[in-house]
Amino acid sequence: MTRLFGVLGGLIGLVSGASAQTATLPFVLKQVGPGVYAAIDGPEHKAGSNAGFVIGDDGVLVVDSFFNLDSARALVGEIHRLTPKPIRYVVNTHYHIDHTGGDQALRDAGAIIVAHKNVRGWVRTNNVNLFGDRITPEIRAEIAAVPLPDLVTDKDLTVWLGSRKVVVRTVLGHTGGDLTIFVPDASVLFTGDMLWRKVPPNLIDGSVKEWMATDADFAAMPNPSHIAFVPGHGDVANANDVRDFRQYLLDLRRLVLEGHKAGLKDDALAQFVEAKLKALHPDWTISDRAAAFEVRYMDEELAGTKKRPIPQPD
Ligand SMILES: [Zn+2]
Repeated sequence: MTRLFGVLGGLIGLVSGASAQTATLPFVLKQVGPGVYAAIDGPEHKAGSNAGFVIGDDGVLVVDSFFNLDSARALVGEIHRLTPKPIRYVVNTHYHIDHTGGDQALRDAGAIIVAHKNVRGWVRTNNVNLFGDRITPEIRAEIAAVPLPDLVTDKDLTVWLGSRKVVVRTVLGHTGGDLTIFVPDASVLFTGDMLWRKVPPNLIDGSVKEWMATDADFAAMPNPSHIAFVPGHGDVANANDVRDFRQYLLDLRRLVLEGHKAGLKDDALAQFVEAKLKALHPDWTISDRAAAFEVRYMDEELAGTKKRPIPQPD
């Protein structure tokens, strides 16, 4: 379906945390500003997604926790290697397990888990849907044990790390419970899965309409050419990548509509759209499986039948 589905085979053995620790990190650490780091999922996709962290005067704020405890523990190790300051927060950009699966490792390191209000109601239940027929008892158990966030919001927040300001914003498009994290003094925006770089996004819970509007807002930020965008998947991005991603979503919607007009559906529609998307975005990695799911979800959204996660009462 997505990058997540594409890499599940390799990840399933890691979910339990029982795999042997390898000497190399499952992510590549990249400094994207003074005291601001992106942790980019490695070529084997063992971390499952990107994460990152911000070192302030008196503590550290982490963004997301990867898919598994081993990767999150490796991130904690890297933070401790770079600074003696305490890890005070982990902010989850959304509830998907490839971004929350390591939260317990951050909590064990001292962090308060911050998330959108809707994450508490979804993180231990809706995550099962991401796996489809690839779900296993081990993954079910892992999902059921993910810690619930301690501090939730449906409004923007400002977090002060001493004199360093970090702005947590609520945004629309990926799940219905999405946050971005902006570090104004370093011009770094952690977008979570509102941005994917050169790989198709997971639309399972999304609204492409809302999503494109959020990416238009990213591109309209002041001095976008000076901003480092840390996407949920793919390498560190720039303003051109934001526009490219938004164009991909526009192309997807347009091609699904065109296919419909030509009377195509199901596999024929997916093949029609995929061939044209690949031609328009030759430097993207687009799998048949990812394209088929994208077309299906886009089709449902256009038909008004798309199911999205429902906010749960506290
Ligand atoms: Zn993700």
